[in-house]
Amino acid sequence: MNLIDSLTEKFSKLPGIGPRQSKRFVYFLLTKDRSYLKELAENILNLKDEVKVCKSCYRFFNNYGGATSVCDICFDNSRDNSVLMVVGKDADMENIEKNHIYNGKYFILGGYLPIMNDNAPWVRSKELMKLIEKKSEKEELKEVILALSLSPEGENTIHYIMQILEPLRAKFGLKITTLGKGLSTGTELEYSDDDTLKNALKNRS
Ligand SMILES: [Zn+2]
Repeated sequence: MNLIDSLTEKFSKLPGIGPRQSKRFVYFLLTKDRSYLKELAENILNLKDEVKVCKSCYRFFNNYGGATSVCDICFDNSRDNSVLMVVGKDADMENIEKNHIYNGKYFILGGYLPIMNDNAPWVRSKELMKLIEKKSEKEELKEVILALSLSPEGENTIHYIMQILEPLRAKFGLKITTLGKGLSTGTELEYSDDDTLKNALKNRS
């Protein structure tokens, strides 16, 4: 396989990118100068060294020196430890942060539970249970907000998480809420605007 084909194949593995678009990327790169290509290649190479997964909330965060194992949000003592918001992916959390409507802590599930595939839960359910148990014992966690989109996969995930959290809810007297009423069906948290998010959060139940 020549270099053009090989790179085209690699780009076509990116989410949402087909073979035709990936070939356009390759020809675009061929028009750029060497310094651009070098910086791009170095950025990609450094991703794994400089961006880490937070040991508490599982979001990706910049960690140049490798000094801390938790992200700035988890580390921030001025944030409310009594609420934990569970979101599907990093981009959902980033959108909520950008709109400054929430001051508690987060947990990133890493995806939704696919429908018709209940025996392969690839969301971080065990990690979530561990964190909730720890937070309930040490940090007086009072509420878990399931901030998941109302797509079929999102609802499937909410149903599954409600089930696995039931023993912890009963043991620690936790309140478990969803953003249900404020978000219309299929709304993506990642793209929701300020008012939609505010209302969804206010009307959670
Ligand atoms: Zn974190």
